[in-house]
Amino acid sequence: MKNFDWIVIGAGITGSALSYELAKQGLKILLLEKDSNYANATRYSYGGIAYWSGVDDFSIQLCQESREIYHQLSEELGQSTEFRELDLMLTIPIEKNPQAITNNYQKFFVKPQLLSPQESTEIEPLLNPSAISGCLKLPHGHIHPKKTNDAYQQAFLRLGGTINYEEVTQILSENETLTGVQTNQEKYNSKNVVICAGGLSRSLLKTLGITLNIYFTHSQLILTPTVDINLKTLVMPAILNRLDIEEKSGDSGLKSLWNHPDDEIISDVMEPGAIQFLDGSFCLGQISQIRTNPQAKIDSDSAEKTIRKEVGKILPELQDLPGKLHHCLVAFCPDSNFLVGKIDSLRGLYVFSGFTSTFVFAPPLAKRFASWVVEDDEKMPSLL
Ligand SMILES: Cc1cc2nc3c(=O)[nH]c(=O)nc-3n(C[C@H](O)[C@H](O)[C@H](O)COP(=O)(O)OP(=O)(O)OC[C@H]3O[C@@H](n4cnc5c(N)ncnc54)[C@H](O)[C@@H]3O)c2cc1C
Repeated sequence: MKNFDWIVIGAGITGSALSYELAKQGLKILLLEKDSNYANATRYSYGGIAYWSGVDDFSIQLCQESREIYHQLSEELGQSTEFRELDLMLTIPIEKNPQAITNNYQKFFVKPQLLSPQESTEIEPLLNPSAISGCLKLPHGHIHPKKTNDAYQQAFLRLGGTINYEEVTQILSENETLTGVQTNQEKYNSKNVVICAGGLSRSLLKTLGITLNIYFTHSQLILTPTVDINLKTLVMPAILNRLDIEEKSGDSGLKSLWNHPDDEIISDVMEPGAIQFLDGSFCLGQISQIRTNPQAKIDSDSAEKTIRKEVGKILPELQDLPGKLHHCLVAFCPDSNFLVGKIDSLRGLYVFSGFTSTFVFAPPLAKRFASWVVEDDEKMPSLL
């Protein structure tokens, strides 16, 4: 049978959570994923949940819903997400004024606590106090990203959903109405298709002549095996240069570069960070490069050296851990926290991608999206 109520393209956390929520509404769903190895942003993520990051009524409400969802998600999905609450330690470089950096965080509904270098090492003993002028501490959530993705998928399969490992090569339509998709193996019929293709969402939309404000970074990080060191917190820099650059890369002048067929390098940012998962392995990150070609080659040796050196300044004991460099694409929207809604010019086409803090916003929005679908399509935001 090749007819479905909905086809979801991409089985990272956005596509898996959304497929599950749509199937829970009794709909017949096909989830298509091109990469059975899951070398995607979800697998290579820290898995941090920024509950504190709401800035207006809607985002604050989503943060609160997200917290409630995660507290019972393992039970609901019947499989562990390894959810826990932990401290997020945002490191402030030694040369920066801690108070000025703290002021940048006053827009969030949960305010950070400013700690001296000494106080920071009492909470996170692996920090190097001479490399920082302090830390901002925030209450954060954490899950294992790949295990959470698997848990959503297993629960989706139990609801009767289908997952096929095929690449969508074309989205099919007739008379401005969607009819299905063509993959590298099959043709599937559906009146509704939602793009959850992460960094490749932009290219898929472009095959339809649709240009939305969604872009991607090339992210590089190191995954280690289980090691006998104990990092208690999630460590990231307080100054996220990547967010500034993502915002600027969508400015009118730079937008035209994104249509350039060759590989244009718009920027390159190193943000030293680390998380340890419950099995004792680490993710050390991360370099974010804005390059217009999704297939661009990465200089793995140089990226690995840079990550080790910069992480080593903040967390010296992590510098020489065994581990391997990985690379993935991460979608972003310069002027909003996510791109979720329908494309009016092609009836039946939807986008659920481009999240800034995906792990906090995608699960509650997947629930809303599914309820808009069955209860009131008028509530679904229009993107074009
Ligand atoms: C080092 C690092 C740390 C991070 N830390 C955090 C964090 O702490 N908290 C947080 O919220 N976010 C974090 N992120 C970002 C987060 O991981 C991503 O935003 C999120 O995983 C994106 O999910 P996604 O489903 O949109 O994309 P992906 O996980 O990339 O999934 C998209 C999928 O679509 C598939 N696909 C694409 N095109 C097609 C096609 N044509 N046909 C079929 N399948 C297709 C791809 O193969 C891929 O599997 C981090 C990212 C990195 C790299």
